[in-house]
Amino acid sequence: MAGIYIHIPFCRKKCHYCNFYSVASPKHRHKFIDTLSEEIFLRKNYLHGKEIRTIYFGGGTPSFLESGGIVKILDVLHNYFSFSSVQEITLEANPDDLNPSVLKDYREAGINRLSIGIQSFFDEDLRYLNRVHSASRASEAIHEARDAGFENLSIDLIFGIPTLSNENWEKNLDAAFVLEIPHISAYSLTVEPGTALDVLIRKGKTTAPEEESSNTHFRILMTMMKQHGYEHYEISNFSKPGRYSLHNSQYWNGEHYLGLGPSAHSYNGHSRQWNIASIIEYADQIRNGGSFFEKEELTPAQQYDEYVMVSLRTMWGCDTGVIRERFGENLVDYFSSRALKYISEGKMQENRGIYTLTDEGKLFADGIASDLFLADARG
Ligand code: SF4
Repeated sequence: MAGIYIHIPFCRKKCHYCNFYSVASPKHRHKFIDTLSEEIFLRKNYLHGKEIRTIYFGGGTPSFLESGGIVKILDVLHNYFSFSSVQEITLEANPDDLNPSVLKDYREAGINRLSIGIQSFFDEDLRYLNRVHSASRASEAIHEARDAGFENLSIDLIFGIPTLSNENWEKNLDAAFVLEIPHISAYSLTVEPGTALDVLIRKGKTTAPEEESSNTHFRILMTMMKQHGYEHYEISNFSKPGRYSLHNSQYWNGEHYLGLGPSAHSYNGHSRQWNIASIIEYADQIRNGGSFFEKEELTPAQQYDEYVMVSLRTMWGCDTGVIRERFGENLVDYFSSRALKYISEGKMQENRGIYTLTDEGKLFADGIASDLFLADARG
């Protein structure tokens, strides 16, 4: 099984915290669709006949492209890939772009899952983040999506925003529960170097997020999700039983995927490649038959590190049986001995050779995973 990711690199305006590749203008969108269509043709054999299970429109803001653009891209994909095993076609959308007419177009085009970028149900947070939509529009968009027949809904929420009190964070989660959203992705606000937020903080024009507040929000999140029957199946992802994102689960299970569009990443089991993060350069290279991506063959050490990092983030955990089969007994010993410290600290637990993070450990997921890496140990 495999997935296809399509990166739509346009947004209405740039959110202050964002470090994804996108431009705040629709100017090149027609040229982009033509170029993307060429890339689809060029890369039709990348997945070597694997059955496509999921398609995911991410970005950027896919809903900023008119629905006709999404339909056209799906038509081109149909020309070169079999959709007979496709179970999930997701589109990321901003509340402001949705209305009954485009939602109908999406349904007719075969999109069966929407991931809506809500971030917060409070206007002060949305202003801090420089989001386009308002809090009231966020709820309306969810109702419209339901009315259009979208039951498979996910929303994104952000915590650790300086304007977000503990009480309002609880209210945000309650709002999601009242709306009966089956899948919720919740991310801690991070200040990525070079973003507008980074610059504003360094100039003293806005408040920086605080780690302590973010950790408190994460604890509230885990408690409330549990109380409301959600599975914490990946560090940032919660779902009602079985309502996992099939597409993202494929990333976490090491399945192959083809990434199309500027800055999109692809993986085929032994190498990664990533497209140029520039609409213009990407188009020029494809038109001229040039190279529009960079590529890296993964060493066994890198593959082990990646397995540890990704698997530890999920509720299915890091399986020493898999490590034995893929990387040999030595690495089982290496992993298990280094994990002992975290088990004694109550941050990890082990059951029949499968290691998972405890709720406390989830607060330190990245640090724990990197301590278990092989590449780091080799220096
Ligand atoms: S809508 Fe998403 S991709 Fe676009 S600027 Fe905001 S966070 Fe970035």
